[in-house]
Amino acid sequence: MSPSPTTSREWHLTARPNGWPTPADFALREVPVTEPAEGRILVRNRYFSVDPYMRGRMNDVKSYVPPFQLGKPMDGGAVGEVIASAADGFAVGDHVVHGLGWREVSDVPAAHATKVDTSLAPLSAYLGVLGMTGLTAYAGLFDVASFKEGDTVFVSGAAGAVGNQVGQMAKLRGAARVVGSAGSDEKVRHLVEDLGFDAAFNYKNGPVREQLEAAAPDGIDVYFDNVGGDHLEAALSSFNVHGRATICGMIAAYNNTEPTPGPRNMALIIGKRLRLQGMLVNDHAALQPQFVKDVAGWIASGELKYEETVVEGVEQGVEAFLGMLRGENTGKMIVAVNQ
Ligand code: NAP
Repeated sequence: MSPSPTTSREWHLTARPNGWPTPADFALREVPVTEPAEGRILVRNRYFSVDPYMRGRMNDVKSYVPPFQLGKPMDGGAVGEVIASAADGFAVGDHVVHGLGWREVSDVPAAHATKVDTSLAPLSAYLGVLGMTGLTAYAGLFDVASFKEGDTVFVSGAAGAVGNQVGQMAKLRGAARVVGSAGSDEKVRHLVEDLGFDAAFNYKNGPVREQLEAAAPDGIDVYFDNVGGDHLEAALSSFNVHGRATICGMIAAYNNTEPTPGPRNMALIIGKRLRLQGMLVNDHAALQPQFVKDVAGWIASGELKYEETVVEGVEQGVEAFLGMLRGENTGKMIVAVNQ
């Protein structure tokens, strides 16, 4: 193992973005690394996660997670190896997932770190398919949307971390038809040819409503919403009676500077007796053991595929985050550090 680091670089938010963030809103700063205090561990990160919800944390508004503080390190999911431990149950060399990412070395309260089993999947998978985004897909589809065999499922953001898992999990559990939308023709090809979606379309190629109607001519039963806006309006239009939507994310609006108008066809909710339910993955921690069992099994059997878009180097962290917002990722966007 390489010698213990004496410094670590970490990303700070230095200005609150108005609309699209720019690199000028962030600074990479070097800080000293010290021995962990009692009950804490020092983790040499290998990967950290950049996620859409982090855009909301850059605004100074009350939400379900506190905003990032100006001039302070940002945080988020990360995985790495323990290089010093002052906590029972953690030893040097253990692999852990924790919530103090956006930096090379993290000084983590042991209570907020979880050991992971790298025999089930590579370490990076615990930020994606076996981590937060995988659990979001699993809980959002099976619990929140009450998916059942024979359903036709539509998922937006389908080539991203959550979306591609939703589509594949629905197929694995007997969906009649799975339709995805994504932002490039190559992503559409990938969904159908590599991941087994029945149909997919590029939302930039024409109205979502028309493309969805063509892809799901008999209507949809479940909509997994990662996007909001015209996607949600199209789903309401295509829903069959008793359709169910998991409202997971609305990324189309995250950089808007004005409030976004809602769908114009909300009255369809009444006649079709639809259920639209918001979700937060943190509410579904009780599903974790079953989720790991099912997903690890599907990975081992080769039935569930997952991709990662890996950007190299802590100094590329902000570019990776902006690239994810621009759609440059297929599967989970992660930043590799200390490789
Ligand atoms: P992701 O899908 O891997 O990455 C974001 C993707 O969003 C981009 O690759 C891009 O793909 C797409 N996108 C960006 N702008 C768009 C726009 N204007 N219209 C349509 N698509 C756009 O991210 P993820 O981590 O899996 O998250 C997906 C969604 O789930 C996000 O809305 C996120 O906030 C939400 N989420 C919610 C929870 C929860 O607990 N509620 C947990 C995790 C994630 P294209 O090339 O296809 O445009």
